[in-house]
Amino acid sequence: MNKTITVLPGDGIGLEVVKATTVVLDKLAELYGHQFEYKYADIGGSAIDKYEDPLPPETVESCKNSDGVLLGAVGGPKWDNHPSGLRPEQGLLGIRKALQLFANLRPVTGHESLTDSSSLKKEVVDNVDLMILRELTGGIYFGKPQERRQMDGEEAALDTMVYKKSEIARIVRQGFEMAKLRRQKLTSVDKANVLESSRLWRETVEEIKQDYPDVELEHMLVDNAAMQIIRDPKQFDVVVTGNMFGDILSDAASMLTGSLGMLPSASIGEQAPGLYEPVHGSAPDIEGQGKANPLAMISSSAMMLKYSFGMLEEAETLDRAVSDVLSAGHRTGDIAKEGETILSTDEMTEKVIEALKK
Ligand code: NAD
Repeated sequence: MNKTITVLPGDGIGLEVVKATTVVLDKLAELYGHQFEYKYADIGGSAIDKYEDPLPPETVESCKNSDGVLLGAVGGPKWDNHPSGLRPEQGLLGIRKALQLFANLRPVTGHESLTDSSSLKKEVVDNVDLMILRELTGGIYFGKPQERRQMDGEEAALDTMVYKKSEIARIVRQGFEMAKLRRQKLTSVDKANVLESSRLWRETVEEIKQDYPDVELEHMLVDNAAMQIIRDPKQFDVVVTGNMFGDILSDAASMLTGSLGMLPSASIGEQAPGLYEPVHGSAPDIEGQGKANPLAMISSSAMMLKYSFGMLEEAETLDRAVSDVLSAGHRTGDIAKEGETILSTDEMTEKVIEALKK
């Protein structure tokens, strides 16, 4: 198969982990007889420097004309004091919107060999395997009005939590579909005891459940969910929730695996292409030092193979290679324990390539 991939390295270690990933993908393509063509484009701080625009129109165009998009990370201290329209994160929010990526998938998979790096007890996190599905283009981050105004004679600020039924339905349906492919359990997280938008959410989930008789459904209030994810994460299979709740829960869940450098993510819409990026940021503290762990980006590319290209076997081969490398004890600095040998980004990449060939 021939596939065109738009590559958005972004800023900081984004460049390093993206480079590692294309090297790995090229080896995989060679093994399976595929051809991946990369189109590089700018986003975030580097795009601001070049074009005074965190998301130049050429970048959007390139993404729309690709089969998949790989994104490193954006941001850094250099742009922290820029006015709000010229911030690197605007590039990220903009591309999600331009591609209509309404669903964000974050798998949290515990590697047995790494559970010592988690701040939680080994027996709690051993073999944890859950998927958080977060609504990405609606809810309180986008609701209008969002403004400052005078209220009762003093300054006040206002955000609006709004969900249309159709927005809820499309993400919830994704949740049921995903649960069908996994362990057949869906947990829908809301705040229906307080919020009207959550009561519509819950009603909609119940309606869609009729189409999925084999999937076990439970509703959970977000405060309880935050507690349960830390207390007993193995009770979860697929968790579906709105934008803000998902933002917070997925970061909490990220600590189950012990390192941000391990977590992949995918953002998908109704039409291709999906956007695949690690959960971590641009890590300015280690930028350019060859210390970045490339595994989250590499695992994100495995999600691209699976969800955008339908290359299930190739995705599995890549996931297995990452898992084998960890089981063999290879570590970058962020996941190494005291006394363990620390590999550079390039050395870790080489280990993944060696594991692919096995
Ligand atoms: P960060 O994820 O960049 O870094 C947090 C810590 O984890 C740092 O100590 C870093 O060295 C370490 N780390 C992260 N990824 C790593 C990896 N792959 N290998 C080894 N160590 C890794 O978060 P931050 O420091 O809060 O943010 C830095 C910048 O990144 C900010 O400008 C922020 O806005 C941006 N950011 C971007 C994204 C994104 O592009 N999706 C996400 C989060 C933060």
